[in-house]
Amino acid sequence: MGPRPLVVGNWKMNGTVAFAGALLADLLAGLREASEPGTPLLRQLEVAVCPPYPYLALARERLVGTAVAVGAQTVCAQGDGAYTGEVSAAMLADLGCAWVIVGHSERRSLFGEDDAQVAAKAASALGAGLGAIVCVGETLAERERGAAESVLARQLAVLSALLASADPARLVIAYEPVWAIGTGRSASPQQAGEMHAFIRARLTAHGASGAVRLLYGGSVKPDNAEALFSVAGIDGGLIGGASLKAADFLDICRAAARAARAPSGVH
Ligand code: PEP
Repeated sequence: MGPRPLVVGNWKMNGTVAFAGALLADLLAGLREASEPGTPLLRQLEVAVCPPYPYLALARERLVGTAVAVGAQTVCAQGDGAYTGEVSAAMLADLGCAWVIVGHSERRSLFGEDDAQVAAKAASALGAGLGAIVCVGETLAERERGAAESVLARQLAVLSALLASADPARLVIAYEPVWAIGTGRSASPQQAGEMHAFIRARLTAHGASGAVRLLYGGSVKPDNAEALFSVAGIDGGLIGGASLKAADFLDICRAAARAARAPSGVH
């Protein structure tokens, strides 16, 4: 891995107040522990958790003053106003969120978000001072018909204005092949490496800084995390199911820290 790795937990629509409180306490205790070589994980990595909206304030309260950031899972593209049921980027920033996930494949496929809406949401997030973690990725059908790269190119092209101008510390792209999300079928390190190289080339073509981080997401688990994070060009992970178990998420964070310390990636 190159830049400081980022590991983000996407809790999706899971939990209760009690569950969230217990998970946050376990995470914090584990992240504060020293890992080899004696440095707390939180000095080796950036870590964020993205609980559902109702638990954001709780997460912020428990994590304030720690190095674990809080993020939301989506945001409204519009500013405050008559948008019943929506949550604005300004509200998330006001609550102390540092990040928001934008364009997750579940938002795209289940809630009809298109590329233009994803770009508008990312712009709104960045405009409010949040970091945007923008998800891109192809479906299995798109991969099988040889369209994976053209889908990624299209999903990235709508972000071109943001890519060229955003603070690289606050714009993150997450490559999440749709066929790998929640399926237990991760991309292989080689597949992920190829797609990350393609995405990095597109980012460069759009004028993005090399410091924009590129995460991998899709069935990352403790047993495959280190192999994935050791691939050159993978700067951390977006973790769904495994982020709901403190022990698994902590193992994944440790794997990211080990991969970051290793001299070079597999490519
Ligand atoms: C996700 O929801 O972004 C994700 C990658 O899920 P999972 O890790 O469960 O595949």
